[in-house]
Amino acid sequence: MFGCGYVGLTTAVGLAETGNRVIGIDTDAEKLRILRKGRVPFYEPGLQELLQKNVRGKRLTFSADARTGIEHADIIFCAVGTPPLKNNNADLSAVLKVARAFGQYGNVLSTEKRGAKKRSGKRLGTLKIFINKSTVPVGTSEQIRKTIEKFASVKFYFRVVSNPEFLREGSAVRDFFKPDRVIIGLEKEDWKLKNIMKTIYLPLSKNGVPLVFTDIRSAEVIKYASNAYLATRISFINELANFCEKAGADIKKVAKGIGMDKRIGTHYLEAGIGFGGSCLPKDLNSLIEIGKKRGHNFELLKAVQAVNKRQAVRLVEKLEAQFDKGKLRVKTGLRGKTVAIWGLSFKSKTDDLRDAPSLNIIRKLLQLKVKVQVYDPAAMPKAKAILGSSVRFFDNYYSVLDRADALIICTDWNEFSNPDYAKMRRKMSDYYILDGRNLLDPAEAAGNGFEYQGVGRG
Ligand code: NAD
Repeated sequence: MFGCGYVGLTTAVGLAETGNRVIGIDTDAEKLRILRKGRVPFYEPGLQELLQKNVRGKRLTFSADARTGIEHADIIFCAVGTPPLKNNNADLSAVLKVARAFGQYGNVLSTEKRGAKKRSGKRLGTLKIFINKSTVPVGTSEQIRKTIEKFASVKFYFRVVSNPEFLREGSAVRDFFKPDRVIIGLEKEDWKLKNIMKTIYLPLSKNGVPLVFTDIRSAEVIKYASNAYLATRISFINELANFCEKAGADIKKVAKGIGMDKRIGTHYLEAGIGFGGSCLPKDLNSLIEIGKKRGHNFELLKAVQAVNKRQAVRLVEKLEAQFDKGKLRVKTGLRGKTVAIWGLSFKSKTDDLRDAPSLNIIRKLLQLKVKVQVYDPAAMPKAKAILGSSVRFFDNYYSVLDRADALIICTDWNEFSNPDYAKMRRKMSDYYILDGRNLLDPAEAAGNGFEYQGVGRG
């Protein structure tokens, strides 16, 4: 498994748990040090227990050496990062680096296999498979093949497979064992390869998980299309929420009403401060760029992007309006005020801050000379590395309210959903809640003396 991040480590642990011997390869020495101690270098519920179990069971080891990984394995998974470049295209350098190493070492037999070959006196089948899990633009698998061929000193028997990943941070372990489907894109019809892929995923398919075989390009498009569609739903509901504020309707009730239509469904219809994280924004941007390159203008997706960009900032505008309006006890504008933030990660149950809307809100507040104090149950170490001394960090969700004029809720962590309002009032200087996740009950907040505003709630 190349790449031991959210996707790679979860998949490595899952594959070890389902009976395979797995070597996790990563270039990050610190990450490997933590992993070798049996700890997970990021927050992902349930992963640590399974990691320790499989390390103890000697099914899972870690190494920094690409050659070791490729020599010993028949199957190489690539789950390295594909972060956005400045021009919004996906940075494929890590994926192509793995392809290059695969080309260089793919024909080398490990000592173990050399021994087996000698003993049997037969030509052993040495098919090596490169399975790409990283999210990549359509056409990348061909680029992977060319890179492997370019760096292979001798020809060897290999196949490239596109096997995009759909797990969600926060429920990654569950998503490994029970995904809605496994997409497997093959270069061409190949029964032997198909059988190997079926064997890898047998522990899942025998529990009812559908394996969907496609051509390799379609598999690549399915990944981007899924994320673009989810992003579209979020921008749709946010746009509608903004309208509900003008129309005096409640988006929570509207979303429930439309979600009950089976053709629509309830998922991804929660209005808030917009989508973030390591996937949706970058994959949407990347798909728009790929479209451009191939002569296609994704008009709809550009609108999805624009709505999302505005959504976090709208919250700060509401706060400004509230302070200017003079409804609050201190009526002199936002400058110099103290704002507390509950939640920094882009969603609950993860410590991932990549493209988190909270960061845009904080940056905007800092521009307006607001004093910002923050708390998150999981993302504090990462937040400290990003925000440095520009904000104050607190270690629980009540202490962060210390002399705050307003509270902004940026992440829907469970622990924020039923607060002790009396305790909050004792801590805060003024009583304003801006609920970016519609987590609290407006009537309850108001009944406890708070000025409350959610997103799209009349
Ligand atoms: P990540 O940044 O958490 O992990 C990537 C890992 O790859 C890092 O540990 C990094 O050190 C390592 N790496 C980089 N270059 C390497 C190399 N040459 N050899 C070995 N290791 C190397 O990223 P992630 O969130 O796990 O995402 C990985 C891929 O999966 C991305 O393409 C992403 O878009 C996609 N994806 C992510 C999620 C998610 O929820 N995070 C979901 C689906 C798909």
